[in-house]
Amino acid sequence: KDVLLKVDDLKVYYPVSGASIGKKDYVKAVDGVSFEVRKGEVFGIVGESGCGKSTLGRAICKLEQPTAGKIFLDGEEITGYNNKKMRSVRKKVQMVFQDPYASLNPRMSVFSIVAEPLKVHKLYKDQADLEKKVIDLLHRVGLDTYHANRYPHEFSGGQRQRIGIARALAVEPQLIIADEPVSALDVSIQAQVLNLLNELKKDLNLTYIFVAHDLSVVEYISDRVGVMYLGNFVEVGDKDKIYSNPMHPYTQALLSAVPIPDPEAPRERILLSGSIPSAHKPPAGCKFHTRCPKCMECCKSIPPERYEVDEGHYVYCHLYDDRNKTV
Ligand code: SF4
Ligand code: MG
Repeated sequence: KDVLLKVDDLKVYYPVSGASIGKKDYVKAVDGVSFEVRKGEVFGIVGESGCGKSTLGRAICKLEQPTAGKIFLDGEEITGYNNKKMRSVRKKVQMVFQDPYASLNPRMSVFSIVAEPLKVHKLYKDQADLEKKVIDLLHRVGLDTYHANRYPHEFSGGQRQRIGIARALAVEPQLIIADEPVSALDVSIQAQVLNLLNELKKDLNLTYIFVAHDLSVVEYISDRVGVMYLGNFVEVGDKDKIYSNPMHPYTQALLSAVPIPDPEAPRERILLSGSIPSAHKPPAGCKFHTRCPKCMECCKSIPPERYEVDEGHYVYCHLYDDRNKTV
């Protein structure tokens, strides 16, 4: 399949204030991430809060400026683009945020909110065309014409997320980066919004990057998944492979905490000690070594390389280096 997005060794570092003179100090929110997203797929990015998954999503849209690395969209390098040049990119990549209420201007009617990107990008002929386009977008996301003149506070959380999605769709993007789009919603509403996203993807040939901490939600919607820990992927692969046969000790621990419906195949809960360390002074070697139940001596000083354990299934862990294999 064609590659729509290619991210190459992307880093997003924030300088830490109060660092001693002559010695720069950084929070390494995203610390050298590489991956590809193919046209028409849903690439899920999952990890605990603070792992850098939101920063990664925002950096791809250039809402955060990458410190290093490269981003290619449809073969075009967009890494160094300024705001003016980003305008054409913003027509191709849109973001849907976690908290629809915070991302919608409370003083604007739904009509104005959805019309705004059409106006910014001059994507309508006349007022009648603008109105038709806005109403079509509202219908697409399951809202009605009479909703157009209402304000965000008059809607439920799920409806507000529908408004956010309609606004994102207005420019006819190719790629939507959704950052925790359902985590603020009740579970029953989550399913409705996920189904809507699935339908829209099919109808409009969209590609998604779906960022979330909830493993079940990511499993439901994704084709491929990347598991993040402290600014890096630790495992990337097809959703089915990751969920049925997790290979990285961190993924294994995360998944062991998800209840599975099959009582015949109980999963042993792997408890990790401690919490996710700070991205300011991450552990040396494998960043997961301070919590890993399988930590070896080499893990404490040498960052693991990427190993392909199965077709398209990548794990960043010394256990998969032949030299460490015991069988
Ligand atoms: Fe654990 Fe070592 Fe693998 Fe890191 S590299 S996940 S510490 S076994
Ligand atoms: Mg986040």
